[in-house]
Amino acid sequence: MLVQPHLFIPGPTNVPDVVRRAMDIPMEDMRSPEFPKFTLPIFEDLKKVFKMKDGRVFIYPSSGTGAWEAAMTNTLAVGDKVLMSRFGQFSLLWVDMAERLGLNVVLCDEEWGTGVPLEKYADILAKDTAHEIKAVFATHNETATGVSSNIGGVRKALDAAKHPALLMVDGVSSVGSLDMRMGEWGVDCCVSGSQKGFMLPTGLGILAVSQKALDANKTLNGRMNRCFFSFEDMIKTNDLGYFPYTPATTLIRGLRASLNLIEHEGLENIFARHHRMGAAVRSAIDAWGLKLVAKEPKWHSDTVSAIQVPDGVDAINVLKTAYYRYNTSLGTGLNKLNGRVFRIGHLGALDEVMIGGVLFAVEMALLDNGVKLKAGSGTGAAAEYFRSTTKKSASQAS
Ligand SMILES: *Cc1c(COP(=O)(O)O)cnc(C)c1O
Repeated sequence: MLVQPHLFIPGPTNVPDVVRRAMDIPMEDMRSPEFPKFTLPIFEDLKKVFKMKDGRVFIYPSSGTGAWEAAMTNTLAVGDKVLMSRFGQFSLLWVDMAERLGLNVVLCDEEWGTGVPLEKYADILAKDTAHEIKAVFATHNETATGVSSNIGGVRKALDAAKHPALLMVDGVSSVGSLDMRMGEWGVDCCVSGSQKGFMLPTGLGILAVSQKALDANKTLNGRMNRCFFSFEDMIKTNDLGYFPYTPATTLIRGLRASLNLIEHEGLENIFARHHRMGAAVRSAIDAWGLKLVAKEPKWHSDTVSAIQVPDGVDAINVLKTAYYRYNTSLGTGLNKLNGRVFRIGHLGALDEVMIGGVLFAVEMALLDNGVKLKAGSGTGAAAEYFRSTTKKSASQAS
């Protein structure tokens, strides 16, 4: 193949060369006396990415779904009441998992294209004076609909009700790309995975846990069964720099390289870069006269845009055209959005020129499928946006 397919799905994301090379290594002894010198700093550096004030981070050889399960089974008991909301395929699956694990879900079913309903949450929490609700769940970035929610607002709702419930956040498509302030927002479990903001292959479930959630794990009555995901087993060995079973050493070598990249660019610069990429994509969508699934600007996601095709156009054909004719992978419309929506993932190792590239491919694929738009309208709008927001210092750098 002359040119790799251009990957613009919202995970797995592009793996930077330096990260890929860091993983092209011989297998190593995960019980060697040298191994902790490698692992212990990784746990510490991960805490910075989550902006934690206390607690610890677990690294499981699983995808993000495993970290979802770890968060629930280690901090809750069967029959516990939990507050959740559902407004896209990922929040839907998390609710499904909670129900299958035997949690008693108080569910806010929201329109797809909206996010965590802060007022409803505040109302439900204020009325729960007996504190029967043990945990409140929020999907920070709903990848299926391109909707970001206000996690600080969920903390405010909990505080206003003086409610002690744990705050559980799905940050799989936000951590490392959008600001996650676990300490400031009092997030107790934040779920992430390797293949999105961390710019790695799939295979690590990364779970950040506050001290409060670790303590809940100790005192729990009627605790859930857990084995592979047990915090206790992890803590015993992690404290010494080891794992209770074979860790995915190669991926963790890649994680080291990706954490170095994140530190080098700086978290705030990374968030600003993602905001520019998201805004440029949205300017193109506007110029094409198309609509996002996200209903209002406050829901706009800087890591993924879910775009509605006009009536009479099949989004699946747009995806196929992009794939076969323009060597470009876009995200599909998940669940009830299938055929009506395609998604552009704009997170991870991307820059302006790459965003220009995917918009070019999308523009052509839309035209090929009969969408009435002017060639160059979206790419032009994005170019203008990028040029008008480029820092002088950057444009003058030699
Ligand atoms: C990708 C994703 C998941 C699922 O993670 P897997 O690694 O596929 O198990 C969960 N939540 C959100 C918001 C995601 O984007």
